[in-house]
Amino acid sequence: MDLKKNDVVTVLIEDMAADGEGIGKADGFTLFIKDALIGDMVEAKLMKVKKNYGYARLMNVITPSPDRVEPKCPVYRQCGGCQIQALDYQAQLKFKERKVRGNLERIGGFTDIPLEPIIGMENPYHYRNKAQFPVGIDKSGEIVTGFYAGRSHHIIPNTRCHLGAQVNEEILQVVLEYMKKYNVSAYNEVTGKGLVRHILIRTGFISGEIMVCLVVNGKKLPQAEKLIDELIKIEGMTSITVNVNEKRTNVILGEEVRLLWGTTYIQDNIGDITYRISPLSFYQVNPIQTRKLYETALEYADLKGEETVWDLYCGIGTISLFLAQKAKMVYGVEIVPQAIEDARANAALNNIDNAEFYVGKAEKVLPELYEKKGIYADVIVVDPPRKGCDEKCLETIVKMKPERVVYVSCDSATLARDLRYLCERGYEVKRGRACDMFPMTTHVETVALLTRKAQ
Ligand code: SAH
Repeated sequence: MDLKKNDVVTVLIEDMAADGEGIGKADGFTLFIKDALIGDMVEAKLMKVKKNYGYARLMNVITPSPDRVEPKCPVYRQCGGCQIQALDYQAQLKFKERKVRGNLERIGGFTDIPLEPIIGMENPYHYRNKAQFPVGIDKSGEIVTGFYAGRSHHIIPNTRCHLGAQVNEEILQVVLEYMKKYNVSAYNEVTGKGLVRHILIRTGFISGEIMVCLVVNGKKLPQAEKLIDELIKIEGMTSITVNVNEKRTNVILGEEVRLLWGTTYIQDNIGDITYRISPLSFYQVNPIQTRKLYETALEYADLKGEETVWDLYCGIGTISLFLAQKAKMVYGVEIVPQAIEDARANAALNNIDNAEFYVGKAEKVLPELYEKKGIYADVIVVDPPRKGCDEKCLETIVKMKPERVVYVSCDSATLARDLRYLCERGYEVKRGRACDMFPMTTHVETVALLTRKAQ
């Protein structure tokens, strides 16, 4: 039987793709079905038929998977932020472990890495310390805020996201009421007119400090004092600012931040280190898991206090400062200059004087310093973006011959590729562990330890 578009088929879901789509076969033909879970028997309608596989839309779950649970969020399918919220959390963790192991095997050729059990969360909800809510108008002209529907700019009204801090809902209500009461307009992406574009909220989970930043298509907010009066009634309110973004762009934040009340930043802690976070700075969004991830990295680095450590892709120095407590000297490298400013400020804030930072691409800074100054490392930590490390960077790591390399990765496919490179040049993978920084989504973080083989 030849399958064609709009055919409706019954499929048993036998696997899940890396991005969470269910995979099953109809008449031997492989189908990818969004929102279908491993173990589900589903009815699906073919949307796109390719030579060897196709995509189908989930119509009906005939027999649910034993791991299927009722999602907490009523708009979970439209929103697209949580791809696997309907999967029991323990099954989510198994899925992520399988994904990491699969990539290490397929891409890296590693069949014998002793992976330690994935680090999950006790409570896998309300873990995000940062949220950016777009503001717009619905069909009836009401001001709404919520989330963009998957792969679009259509706002699904929702102020109760189960991943964000619980206080977000109250803050959003205050902002919406203020906008309605004082006729403050919402930005319209199509016309480029209107004022309020986004509401950015950050909360320090340890410190309890809250930041509210309204991103506006203008320089200021009318009757801002009325908004401030209401917001400061919320316990923990520390920073209220406006971010000026008058450009017609999808980029959420502009460059200028104006203070309305309090300070322009909040502070939070990971372990013993205090970090200063401004609206524009990068900070890990799941502080509970970040701490566990960094502790794993620290354990793998096995520092005794005399080591020289390089932390490549260091951001605002989060890992560097964590390691500096246990090392002789830490050098961080990061491409974004503002992040390095934050890193230096954070070092000073914590009285850490054994950390130094360089601005630039890791694949440029490291080889240059190695050629010119013959820099040395006992341990190198890398935490690159999804595309992984540049080969030039890996090549220099090999030349520097550190005893240990700790690789923190947000994409196990590029991790597998880079581990393979290092293992073909004198290193071996000793330990590895996945950490679930983003429950309900398909993303997973992994830490790996490589040691130099005796020559
Ligand atoms: N280790 C930090 C940040 C990790 S995110 C933390 O845990 O908070 C990855 C970082 O790599 C980002 O800050 C990004 O700006 C930086 N980056 C991206 N490409 C880079 C490159 N080629 N060289 C150095 N840093 C880079």
